[in-house]
Amino acid sequence: MIEITCSCEKKTHKAPMEMCEISSGAIYKIPKILKGYKKVYIVADSNTYKAAGKYVEDILKENDMLYNTFVFDDQLVLPNAQSIGKVLLNFQPLDAKPNIFEYCPMPDFILAVGSGSLNDICRVVSYRIGLPYGIVATAPSMDGYASAGSPILHDGTKSTIQGTTPKYIIADIDVLKEAPYDMMLAGIGDMFGKYTGMLDWELARDYTGEYFCDKISADVIEATNKCLANGYNIADRNPECIKNIMDGFLVTGLGMAFIGNSRPASGSEHIIAHAWELFDVEAANAPHLHGLEVCEATRLVAIMYKMLHKETEDAHLKQLIEKYIPYFNAVEEFCKKMKVPPTVVKRETILAGIKRALIMRDRYTILFYLRDIGKFDEYAEKATDELLKLI
Ligand SMILES: [Zn+2]
Ligand SMILES: [Zn+2]
Repeated sequence: MIEITCSCEKKTHKAPMEMCEISSGAIYKIPKILKGYKKVYIVADSNTYKAAGKYVEDILKENDMLYNTFVFDDQLVLPNAQSIGKVLLNFQPLDAKPNIFEYCPMPDFILAVGSGSLNDICRVVSYRIGLPYGIVATAPSMDGYASAGSPILHDGTKSTIQGTTPKYIIADIDVLKEAPYDMMLAGIGDMFGKYTGMLDWELARDYTGEYFCDKISADVIEATNKCLANGYNIADRNPECIKNIMDGFLVTGLGMAFIGNSRPASGSEHIIAHAWELFDVEAANAPHLHGLEVCEATRLVAIMYKMLHKETEDAHLKQLIEKYIPYFNAVEEFCKKMKVPPTVVKRETILAGIKRALIMRDRYTILFYLRDIGKFDEYAEKATDELLKLI
């Protein structure tokens, strides 16, 4: 467990995570990190197995800690009941000799090797059957590594269900720097969403009295600033830059565990991105990278905030937004220079996503503020048109 003292009203913050190792050569430390576990079950897909799973498997085998390895051979592993079932079914090789007098012996630890879906699946299996789990990250692509919730596809939609927070996150920079370039851009894009997310949280504090932690919010902004400043070096797969992104995910992930909700990681930009994603889920289209979707939504929400800053007569709100305008401008400049690809380009889809986001989640953000002052539709339309000029 990680515990810190804080000057906010909670006084201390706790997270169930044991440790996070972000370094070059981190996978070689796995036997030491997982000391005490003798039957580790590795879950990977064919890409992540090649990228890191095979090495992890060899290392665990050498140390007599490997129980079994399951590699999804699907082109696209989706977090759904079928994938969860496969992870359970393959605890043992399918041709293992049964002992009909006993139940199937269990592994003592689940180790997901991958990003996104593989973690979402293992997190749920871990929670459902009460086994600890950890992650070997293979791409610095999304902020969900340390999350406790898993977005699962079921009944034609996607919703978040409770899972387990990983005990260990192992991120080997030498593995991460080989990840596909778009996944790295997505990672930075997901971090950019923290700017709009933190401003939404401040807005909720000042206009609804919602709990806010200065320290956690400041840590998230600081981590995002590092990603922004160093992000240009991602083109060269710069190790420092990759470390900044993983550190950012850790700060936001821990922040969520510390306060028990996702405020430190997400605001209106994540809700809008989620709405866009649902349109694809419902139409059975392949999903976009989460971070790229969040990045586009961040640019959209930044436009709304800048419009509000110009028009509002509320001096306090003006001041609040002012702090973030340099960040918003820097994000826009980054996206332009680094050619961050947009995900949703149709006017009606962008707009429908904003409208769906308003009713999808009961969380106070700029969307609720605009609704309450009767300007939601006007801002949604105008911001969509502005965004279309930028992407
Ligand atoms: Zn605090
Ligand atoms: Zn995210």
